[in-house]
Amino acid sequence: MMAVSTLPRDGMKIGIVGLGLIGGSIGLDLRSRGFYVIGVSSREQTCQKAIARGVADEAGRDLSLLATADLIFACTPLGSIEPIVRELIPHLAPDAIVTDVGSVKTPIVRVLSALWPNFVGGHPMAGTAESGIEAAIPDLFVGRPYVVTPTPETPEAAVAEVEEIARLLGAEVYRCGPEEHDRAVAWISHLPLLVSANLLAACEKEGERNIADLASKLASSGFRDTSRVGGGNPELGVMVSKYNREELLRSLSIYRDSLDEFIRDIESENWQALEQKLKLTQEARSNYKQFT
Ligand code: NAP
Repeated sequence: MMAVSTLPRDGMKIGIVGLGLIGGSIGLDLRSRGFYVIGVSSREQTCQKAIARGVADEAGRDLSLLATADLIFACTPLGSIEPIVRELIPHLAPDAIVTDVGSVKTPIVRVLSALWPNFVGGHPMAGTAESGIEAAIPDLFVGRPYVVTPTPETPEAAVAEVEEIARLLGAEVYRCGPEEHDRAVAWISHLPLLVSANLLAACEKEGERNIADLASKLASSGFRDTSRVGGGNPELGVMVSKYNREELLRSLSIYRDSLDEFIRDIESENWQALEQKLKLTQEARSNYKQFT
């Protein structure tokens, strides 16, 4: 009986630039599914660790290593995706597909689609609080959304190939425009990060040292959950604020208005209005399908 390949293309070579949490986790999973993976990262010791950890078959600092790759993932920090792909283009095979994993899509997709027609924007909605090659783990993307953000000009074959690989990672694939992506993630990712950061910032303003100490000892699961995303890597918060500035400001301003309404209800002791609002938020939570 003839073996049926589950790979999009037999013998397909995957390239990954930026061997950290996301790039490393993609490498681990795709190698375990039989792909040949070539990694490039800025530090030699990261490249060596990537080979030792089974993230890549070969790895080095030179982008020319990716000349034979069929599909390349750009997994560097948000601010360096565009310059890295610009540098990569002269080394690429003519029909190579390039995708990225950046958390903001519009500025990246706008520039890189014009430079490389086979560029497909992407964003796996998965992560941990850790970073770097040591943080790479298998099955990070299983059951998680993976958004693919083509433009009307992106070749369908390239989009379909990226989607197929995302499915092989176990992710649930969504397709939308880069602008829609950025507006949606402002609500469910970037606004929560700043709200959570402000929760921590406000708690730090408690003036009485003994109360602050007591609060830090009493903090339990509710505080752990609500402070988690605001207490993470500052670079991520700055990057998403810089790259998704307009959508983030829009959501923050609506959030501030909403907070003011809650404050007014409490100041005026309008418990009925407050209860009504909290009933609506209780119902609203079921709209976020992964929590139901
Ligand atoms: P990370 O763990 O810090 O990994 C990025 C790696 O890229 C670094 O470890 C660094 O490796 C390498 N690197 C940095 N600059 C480079 C350059 N100029 N050339 C080559 N390699 C370079 O970060 P991450 O969390 O994986 O995030 C990577 C991307 O994924 C970001 O664009 C982010 O927006 C996106 N993303 C993150 C998450 C998340 O939750 N973390 C979720 C979805 C998407 P060296 O050790 O070699 O310096």
